[in-house]
This record gives sequence, structure tokens and C-alpha cells, in this order.
Amino acid sequence: MTTSLSGRLSAELSNLRSSGLLIKPRVLDGANRARTRVDGREVVNLASNNYLGFADHPRLKEKAAAYLREWGVGAGAVRTIAGTLRIHEELEQQLAAFKHTGSALVLHSGFTTNQGVLGTLLKEGDLVISDALNHASIIDGLRLTKATKKVYKHADADDLERLLQENETDGLKLVVTDGVFSMDGDLAPLDKLIAVARKYGAVTYVDDAHGSGVMGKDGRGTVHHFGFENADDVIQVGTLSKAWGGVGGYAAGHADLRELLINRARPYLFSTAQPPAVVGGLVAAIEEVQRDPSLMRRLWDNTHYFKAELSRLGFDTMGSVTPITPVLFGEPEAAFEASRLLFEEGVFAVGLGFPTVPRGSARIRNIVTAEHTRADLDQALEAYDKVGRKLKIVG
Ligand SMILES: *Cc1c(COP(=O)(O)O)cnc(C)c1O
Repeated sequence: MTTSLSGRLSAELSNLRSSGLLIKPRVLDGANRARTRVDGREVVNLASNNYLGFADHPRLKEKAAAYLREWGVGAGAVRTIAGTLRIHEELEQQLAAFKHTGSALVLHSGFTTNQGVLGTLLKEGDLVISDALNHASIIDGLRLTKATKKVYKHADADDLERLLQENETDGLKLVVTDGVFSMDGDLAPLDKLIAVARKYGAVTYVDDAHGSGVMGKDGRGTVHHFGFENADDVIQVGTLSKAWGGVGGYAAGHADLRELLINRARPYLFSTAQPPAVVGGLVAAIEEVQRDPSLMRRLWDNTHYFKAELSRLGFDTMGSVTPITPVLFGEPEAAFEASRLLFEEGVFAVGLGFPTVPRGSARIRNIVTAEHTRADLDQALEAYDKVGRKLKIVG
């Protein structure tokens, strides 16, 4: 008998429900700020990727509004037909200059950037070696290629070297890693990884979604943080949707990379260009981070303060070294219960369990931003102390 749509939907949903994986997103009743209303409650927001407070920043909103008025609501076509506005090219030149790369292309999101770039670059006979904890959009991007795929142990340059030795090819070799890992808040050891990649003639591909606007001078990213500027054997991709406050993705690197992607990257070729208001916000974001150094300073002051205070209270922040600050609870039930109790205390922070993170390492992931005040963080810490004691996570 043919499966009915309602049969398929209810079977899938009840599977999710019974395994405790059904997601019910909370709803924000205002702009995504460090302090906002969520599901009708005033909260300190530790759940966003709004590292620099750009999602609702006055200067970004001003430029977004100006571009909206001058250039319209929509781009009107895909980039390759009639959708490339002067402002798209200006944003790309600004990004290439900011990243110190030979070229940069803007795509619709970080997700589609990985699909577009990996799907374009890699061919049969090539070798791609990917970190075990890479983001879902990298995994999906690699599904689009016929290259030989291998996975190295998380952040392990020795394991990467072993795989490069065992899989010699005349094709292109690509080492793929996140710059900052989104669940643990640790850094890819790019100094070691790029050195190994170079030894075997491989190109390194860094998805810096959580590192862009966070790491390096003025937020130039993790590649910049490790001192690999202007290197033709490093490709930097990332999102314009996290620290940069809007939505979009970019690919930056070799001078010829942009032109090949324009001609071949399918998400770029077959999806309408970004709307002018988004472009305006992003142009202003990259100006603002360089104009106002206090943004990066506050982001990192807050990060260091929050991590140190959580440790002092007895919580395990899992060795994270970036504003992504996980707090370990172990079992998913404990993490989800803690998230619920924190919300009652006016703190919005999301619990994560298997399969998003490995079994036994369920956690709450906090993201500290430049916009949080000391009072915001102190309120969150007080709530953590109370909830941690109640659940006997700290003594
Ligand atoms: C968030 C994220 C993406 C997706 O970026 P979007 O612009 O939200 O599509 C891609 N890669 C990594 C590593 C991410 O953390």
C-alpha cells in the first residue's frame, strides 16, 4: 500500500518525540539582543551567535535602511543574469581587503557556501580529508563530490599526516576544518594542520563561521590569528550570519577562486542575489568592527570573565578558549532540565545532547557577546550557581 503523507509525517514525528529529539524552538518577542524577551519572559540571552551585537546595531540598521531606499527590496535576479548590483561587488572588494586575500565572493549563507565551494572544487581522483567534528554543511557539501573522502581525528595533525601518507594521489588534496568548533569552542590547530598539509602539497580549507568577527585583529578570523595571511594554499569560507549580524556566506582566497565559483558554484548560479538591505548591514558591520575597537575588547573581556567565574563556581567549561562556552552536564536530561530552570531564572541558554554532541557530554552552550553588560553576566552566573546546586552539578 502506498504511504500517505499524513502517515509519513506522523511516523517521523513520533520517532523524534519518543527519542526526545523533537525540537520546539523558543520564540523571541523582540530583536536578538543580549537582553530580550523570549516566550513572554525578560531574559539574558546566552543562546545567540550575535558576538558583536550587530544583529540590532544602530549603524548597521542605518546603512541597511539607506541601501533599502536606494537599491530596493530585492536584487531582482540571480547574480549571473541581472542580480549583481554595484553594492554586491563593493562588499566583495571590502571583504577581500579585510581578509587580505586575492579574491572574495559572497554567497547566500554559510551553509550554501560549503556546498558551492566544495561541490565546485573537488573532482573524482581528488582527496579530501575532513576533521571528525566538522559542521553539517561541510558534510553535506562533501556528499556532492566524487573525491575520495577521509576523516581525521578531531584537531589531530598526526592523524591527518597518516591519512595524507596512506592516500597519495595526483589530484587536488584538500584538508577541511572548522576554524572554531561550534560545540566545544576550541580552535583548530591551524599552525600544525597547515604545516602538515603543505608538506604533502595539500590545500587547507577553513570554515571560520564562528571565528570570523571573533578571532584575529578586528575579527579577521582564525587564519589571520595564526598568521597565515595572503596564502594561496588556504581557502577561507564562513558566514556573514553570525558575528556580522546579517545573513550570507563568503569564500575568500586565491585570486582566481572567485571567478571559478561565479561560473560553477550551483547555489550561486541558481539562487537570487542577496537583498540590498542585507548588503548594507554587512558593509557597515565590516566598517564598524574596524572603527570601534571596543567591540572586540568587550567580547573578549566578557568571555574571559564569564569562563573564569563559571570555573570558580565549580562548572566544567570543557577547555573552550573562545566566546563559545559550554557547561558540561553529562546526561541530556540534566542539560535540558538545567536549561529549563535557567530560563525560569531569566537566562536563555540551550541544552544540547546526542546526536548534536557525543554521548555523555550533554551540555549547555553559552555564547558571550560584546553586548552583554557585567550585570547581565552576573545575573547569569547567579542563576547557574542556583541551578547547578539544585541539580547537584556543583557543591
Ligand atoms: C553556522 C555555521 C554555518 C552555516 O552558516 P549560515 O550562514 O548560518 O548558513 C556553516 N559552517 C559552520 C562551521 C557554522 O558554524
